[in-house]
Amino acid sequence: MKKITIAIDGYSSCGKSTLAKDLAITLQYAHIDSGAMYRAVTLFMIDHDINVEDVDLVVENLSRVKVEFKFVGGANCTFLNDRNVESEIRKLRVSEKVSQIAVIAEVRHAMVALQRQMGQTKGIIMDGRDIGTVVFPNAELKLFLTADEKVRVERRFQELREKGHTITREEVKANLIQRDYIDTNRAESPLRQAEDAILFNNTHITRKEQLAMISALAKERIKSLAIADE
Ligand code: C5P
Repeated sequence: MKKITIAIDGYSSCGKSTLAKDLAITLQYAHIDSGAMYRAVTLFMIDHDINVEDVDLVVENLSRVKVEFKFVGGANCTFLNDRNVESEIRKLRVSEKVSQIAVIAEVRHAMVALQRQMGQTKGIIMDGRDIGTVVFPNAELKLFLTADEKVRVERRFQELREKGHTITREEVKANLIQRDYIDTNRAESPLRQAEDAILFNNTHITRKEQLAMISALAKERIKSLAIADE
């Protein structure tokens, strides 16, 4: 079966990672959560008392950061310098600073290089903000997810609460608005829909329905590309 690259971009808390994870299981593809990589860099800077607004200092320390993904108990986990930080990087103290780290050109260049290396072999689904526009502009399938703000806040709030994080709806909402603003307005690879991406609004769609629709779309795309190759 022909393997392709699938890029999923969109605003914060639109369910990009959830869809990417579900789709990876259905298609038996690898999933890479590019946001986790920016979060890991951010956690390193916070842990080392490095002010994320001090660009020179952040860049100077970038070579001390090693980000990897490993399977632990069947789940794909983010490792920062050999430490499993999967839960830690989802905390508000990281979410509050990550978009400031992600505006730094040198950070982006390092992450994009790593993402391209990880995606060298086809059969990959990567989610983020610039996957279809910058990381994999030739991805065979590009999706751009959106959902109403209220629904996004509620979904992220429930997800964090289920994972045991102490957070209020107001904190989730403020963080979501702040990150979307910075991500959309930054100079270096801002969040935008690639011209050839399919816009998908999942406000009124369940996780199961979304997976059924997108996996059918992906299978169709894989089939038509395989026929074109013959
Ligand atoms: O996807 P997630 O919400 O975990 O991403 C956290 C932050 O990382 C985003 O708000 C954005 O600032 C940054 N990011 C990015 N480019 C990506 C993925 C994430 O700038 N490809």
